[in-house]
Amino acid sequence: MNSWMGLLERNNKGLENIKIVDLHGQHLRIKDELDQAIEEVMQESHFIRGRHVGQFQENLEKYLDIRNVIPCGNGTDALQVALMALDLPKNTEVIVPTFNYVAGAEVCALLGLKPVFVEVDPKTFTVTADEIRKVLTPKTKVVIAVHLYGQCAEMEPIMELAKENHLYVIEDTAQALGADYKFPDGTTKKAGTIGHIGTTSFFPTKCLGCMGDGGAIFTGNDELAAKMRQVAFHGQVKKYQYEIIGLNSRLDTLQAAILDVKLQYIDDYIKSRNQTADFYNSKFKDHPELEIPLLPSYSTHVYHQYTIKVENRQQFSKKLEDANIPYMIYYPSPLHLERAFSYLGHKDGDFPVSEQLCKQIISLPVHTELTQEEIEYIAKVVVN
Ligand SMILES: *Cc1c(COP(=O)(O)O)cnc(C)c1O
Repeated sequence: MNSWMGLLERNNKGLENIKIVDLHGQHLRIKDELDQAIEEVMQESHFIRGRHVGQFQENLEKYLDIRNVIPCGNGTDALQVALMALDLPKNTEVIVPTFNYVAGAEVCALLGLKPVFVEVDPKTFTVTADEIRKVLTPKTKVVIAVHLYGQCAEMEPIMELAKENHLYVIEDTAQALGADYKFPDGTTKKAGTIGHIGTTSFFPTKCLGCMGDGGAIFTGNDELAAKMRQVAFHGQVKKYQYEIIGLNSRLDTLQAAILDVKLQYIDDYIKSRNQTADFYNSKFKDHPELEIPLLPSYSTHVYHQYTIKVENRQQFSKKLEDANIPYMIYYPSPLHLERAFSYLGHKDGDFPVSEQLCKQIISLPVHTELTQEEIEYIAKVVVN
């Protein structure tokens, strides 16, 4: 195995070409191993359901310490398969944050379920048990807790509320694979393994990314696992025997082989992004116009994004642009104000925290290939 070089050992590359993500750089470091994995898949040419899929599944089960990982086509499919396996009547209410990527709300709508938007916490950007309680009705059966940007939502209070109200909790872990949830007794569990079902995405830029699309579902419940495998496999229990309506969602062998290599480095990637985030935090924490990410006591952070809040984003982003520093806005608009969800009848002001966040948040480069020089330069421009 190649040794993975740490942040501080990297060569300086100059400051003209800072990237928001650098997948090429990330892959170059482990190119020999990736080439070998790709070569193996080509030699065997078992491109669908090849042995690497099962091998990666087992390794991810070990890493997450969960009984069942079900690889699938992408993170959106993972949510759809999970919801289909729960067999919910039409118009069942599914609570999903409005400050979020579209996937969770979208699959609810596709399946004839009702997405019920919920406000997020202004400091952690994630859903809380208190906010969920406000939108609960007798029709609510599911909560999709999204671990936005890379740290966990407060799973313990959410699971308690879910138990009282007989709700399923799906953890959308697309941005937080590898994060640890810390329980008061000192034990930890990986994000995505606390609720009834966890889902993730292996989209190239995610914490564990492949070279195309990929996703997975996790559960400790064997019955749910069997159902989800069936749903993702055309509703079959065995070939050409269709018991329920399913869909076709699978992780291909090539992506699984690539992910199996990269899984060995996931903790290094997390550590590298934490080093960058720690440096940024130390430089930004006393700045009057910036608010750094709050790290809650119950979670570690994998910094899929390093997202700060700024008073005047237009002015701030102009400053970054002038200094050739790339940035992203996740997300420019809350889902309840998007036209696709206008049928739900929301208006401006329904979720003021999320609406305000959409105007203030900005994500800075935090990828694994940043040099110390680049990080210092970014920090200097930000605080000036
Ligand atoms: C990326 C992402 C998804 C969807 O993953 P895909 O693989 O692109 O379908 C779902 N939820 C969240 C929070 C995401 O960030």
